[in-house]
Amino acid sequence: MGDADNLKITVDREACIGDAACCSDAPDTFEMDDDDIAVVKDPVGDDRDTILEAAENCPTDAIKIEDAESGEVLYPKD
Ligand code: SF4
Repeated sequence: MGDADNLKITVDREACIGDAACCSDAPDTFEMDDDDIAVVKDPVGDDRDTILEAAENCPTDAIKIEDAESGEVLYPKD
């Protein structure tokens, strides 16, 4: 378990193209569902930097990361 316990992670199912890059970057946080769309299997599976990196590497910016307490959007930034 990582140090990401204050992150809210959401995947835009319309935007996800199913390339599984996030599952490679943060394999203990994301997995592919039966429709080949990424889902969050454990929001604290990887550490914070790893999860943020996975979001940054998503080709369609389908992953949104927020601070669960403040609601601040950590990724994507405007
Ligand atoms: S990296 Fe983005 S597009 Fe690729 S599977 Fe994950 S959420 Fe979907």
